[in-house]
Amino acid sequence: MEREKSSDLLKRIHEQYEVIPGIHNYCDRWCQRCRFCTRCSVYLMEVEEEKFRVENNLPEQDFEESMINILQDTMEMIIEMATEDGIELSEEMDAELEFFPPRRTGKKHYLFRKADEHSKWLIKWLRENTKKLDTKVKEFSETSKTDFLIFENAIDSLSWYMHFIAVKFSRALLPPYDESPESSYDKNGSAKIAIIATENTMQAISAIMSYFPEDEDEFLTALVRLERIRKRALKEFPDAMSFKRPGFDD
Ligand code: SF4
Repeated sequence: MEREKSSDLLKRIHEQYEVIPGIHNYCDRWCQRCRFCTRCSVYLMEVEEEKFRVENNLPEQDFEESMINILQDTMEMIIEMATEDGIELSEEMDAELEFFPPRRTGKKHYLFRKADEHSKWLIKWLRENTKKLDTKVKEFSETSKTDFLIFENAIDSLSWYMHFIAVKFSRALLPPYDESPESSYDKNGSAKIAIIATENTMQAISAIMSYFPEDEDEFLTALVRLERIRKRALKEFPDAMSFKRPGFDD
């Protein structure tokens, strides 16, 4: 059976489900914990792609192959939409490229640098304490279900948001190409989810800290760094927290 074009698949998903437009843009991408899976086109597309793969006994796509497919499908979609609107795509694209300066990524900014510092510290701490973490998980699995769940949830959160905070701040810090509402919209949405991820990480560290009092100094340093990130982000993006994320804040 031939693979359905992404544009057709997307159309079908929108017909079959009550999709919330743009919900995936400002979520934390933790689909296993998301209550909106059946209303998210990104999730549903992945489910359909996987279903097709299994039904047709196809091997799992490697990363490069899936990126090529996504790019091909995206280009097809853009060409289709442009043709429908009577736009001569190559001329439009040339004009855009001339108008917009090359993107800077905001990687020199305090928020990105500190979020990156946090990731590096966390990677190191997790690597150096693998044995200690395993011992605790084993101990709690035998002695306390509550501690087991709190501990596991905190470690999962730390790992999940390890790079996410820097990535989202980096996006929020991209230079504005104009003062349009679209530009502020994306910045505030990206900043809001980065701030939420920072707060979730702080909660996770506080939970872990209670199980490792000997590492308290290290954890407190991490918490201070995250609190500084949070405060600076709120100052830098004063409208971020009133941003309404589609689905999550409706
Ligand atoms: S909205 Fe939910 S299901 Fe969709 S990408 Fe985000 S976390 Fe995953």
